[in-house]
Amino acid sequence: MEAANNTDVITEAKPQVIYRCKKCRRIVASAEQVVPHEPGEGQKCFKWKKRSNNPWDQEAPQCSSIFVEPMKWMQVVEDGCVQDKLQCLGCKARLGYFNWAGMQCNCGAWINPAFQLHKSRLDECQL
Ligand SMILES: [Zn+2]
Ligand SMILES: [Zn+2]
Repeated sequence: MEAANNTDVITEAKPQVIYRCKKCRRIVASAEQVVPHEPGEGQKCFKWKKRSNNPWDQEAPQCSSIFVEPMKWMQVVEDGCVQDKLQCLGCKARLGYFNWAGMQCNCGAWINPAFQLHKSRLDECQL
């Protein structure tokens, strides 16, 4: 008897996505390290003027950043800082910011702790 296949887990079909530094092409994160968040939740915080009575009709803004797990290349995190810039190890480009106390995405969601990488500084590649 072979070990039972985990047919319940449907993660294999996903294409592998990685994020590279736009400047030096260094890989800074992969899709597994991205911490997803619900954009809808944060909308309450912003108290946007709602044209529709149904808040779910509102289009959430595209998140301009991704939030990831703390990683080895984030030297300032390893140094024990509470919050600081996140710089690419290769080219020292500023890729984002982190804060153990949490940060708010532009969609309104709070991420805690937050390791934010700006999508505009990254190249998203599918392997
Ligand atoms: Zn967001
Ligand atoms: Zn770089």
